[in-house]
Amino acid sequence: MNEKNKAALVIGAGIAGIQASLDLGDMGIQVHLVEQRPCIGGRMAQLDKTFPTNDCSICILAPKLSDCARHPNITLHTLSEVVGLEGIPGNFEVTILQHPRYVDLDKCINCGDCVENCPVSVDDEFNVGLKKRSAIYLDYLQGIPAKVTIDDSVCLHFIQGICGICKKVCDKEAIDYEQKEEIFNLNVGAVIVATGYDPFDPTPLQNFGYGSASNVITALELERIICASGPTDGHLIRPSDGRTVKKIAFIQCVGSRDKNYNKYCSSICCMYTTKEAMVAYEHDNELETKIFYIDMRAGGKHFRKYLKRGEEEYNITYVKGSVGEIREDEDQNLIVIYEVSNTGEVKSERFDMVVLATSIIPKQDADKVAKSLGIERDKYNFIKTLPHAPMITTREGVYACGCCHEPMDIPNSVVEASSAAALAAEVIRSSK
Ligand SMILES: Cc1cc2nc3c(=O)[nH]c(=O)nc-3n(C[C@H](O)[C@H](O)[C@H](O)COP(=O)(O)OP(=O)(O)OC[C@H]3O[C@@H](n4cnc5c(N)ncnc54)[C@H](O)[C@@H]3O)c2cc1C
Ligand code: SF4
Ligand code: SF4
Repeated sequence: MNEKNKAALVIGAGIAGIQASLDLGDMGIQVHLVEQRPCIGGRMAQLDKTFPTNDCSICILAPKLSDCARHPNITLHTLSEVVGLEGIPGNFEVTILQHPRYVDLDKCINCGDCVENCPVSVDDEFNVGLKKRSAIYLDYLQGIPAKVTIDDSVCLHFIQGICGICKKVCDKEAIDYEQKEEIFNLNVGAVIVATGYDPFDPTPLQNFGYGSASNVITALELERIICASGPTDGHLIRPSDGRTVKKIAFIQCVGSRDKNYNKYCSSICCMYTTKEAMVAYEHDNELETKIFYIDMRAGGKHFRKYLKRGEEEYNITYVKGSVGEIREDEDQNLIVIYEVSNTGEVKSERFDMVVLATSIIPKQDADKVAKSLGIERDKYNFIKTLPHAPMITTREGVYACGCCHEPMDIPNSVVEASSAAALAAEVIRSSK
């Protein structure tokens, strides 16, 4: 084997990229895991529990995060992106752009003194804007590396040349405003793309009131609300007035299977709405839930049983119907107006909160990623893969797994990650 080409590149450190890296690392292959955020973990870190077992998401993810960080064959490149890929399978030259953290990873002990003293307050992306963070911040509580980062787009030192408090309070001398972007090249034998997805922003669907009615939220927002480490410490309360939610509606397929937005099915929303309703009920067993659906796509193992449990044990009612409009009354309650599918009857019902199960869409920068790797995207802008071999992209030696090429759940992302790792290992091992 050519030692020089023994490495693999994995782009994106969500559950798919992490699993692919661990598999490759365990095979004795050097892995460069590139993540654009300050910490690895991806969307799974934002979830409270996961269907179909309702296990705590971070409890499953956290050991994988530390395995990845400690693995002798895995090198993490956070705050980084791939900007170019030249060469052939077995011998690629990849160009990586690493953004500055302005914090010395070796010196920072994550004591939080800088975070507490920073005067800036902006929306926290990890908590989907439901909480604030400072300009110097830890991406999320269990994030790895457990080191803070300065967001130079809002830091007063970088935008106004003032402040400098974090540097003054850090007795470890970890703050380094002089760090600059770095560009470096790596030689790798194969590439795995695992850049994941974004949730669809439902603001354009004005009939649903997202953005104007404060108690209409998205499913990802609800994940954070019901999470014990989230913005309300796990209390299911309304954003408008902090009142405990007693009656909640979920609307499925928001932005999915819709010719005006995304024509495809997002595949996981049928299941995660039931999960969220179950978890919410566990917080308060007086909760009444209605789930409005077009048709229920619960094709996985034991998924039907899961929905039945929802009905029988968690006070969930499934309503086959399409929601035309959500109106807000003077008390900020929500009136859901819907048509019952089999009778055509138009009905309305009042709820305390409405949750929109929004589509899974390609990452905003999917185009940039595809261009830098020389791979194609499909008609929906996901990474294009072969229909009969879903891990194979349009460039030989470059593989894809997880939601970057189509919506899927965590178990499927993990299966695909292991398949992509096996394909990448084969290329690396056969290149002499
Ligand atoms: C509300 C909601 C609830 C859900 N509940 C469940 C559930 O209960 N059970 C379940 O099985 N699934 C659930 N899912 C689905 C689950 O989130 C996905 O299956 C899973 O996160 C996919 O993992 P991934 O690694 O493919 O993508 P992601 O988790 O999106 O990770 C991709 C990673 O790549 C990074 N990245 C992106 N672009 C770049 C780039 N250009 N360069 C470097 N890094 C990049 C991202 O920052 C991220 O860290 C839910 C989804 C939603 C929206
Ligand atoms: S940068 Fe300094 S003050 Fe901030 S968390 Fe790290 S060690 Fe603590
Ligand atoms: S210099 Fe920037 S990051 Fe540091 S405390 Fe001031 S605003 Fe916050």
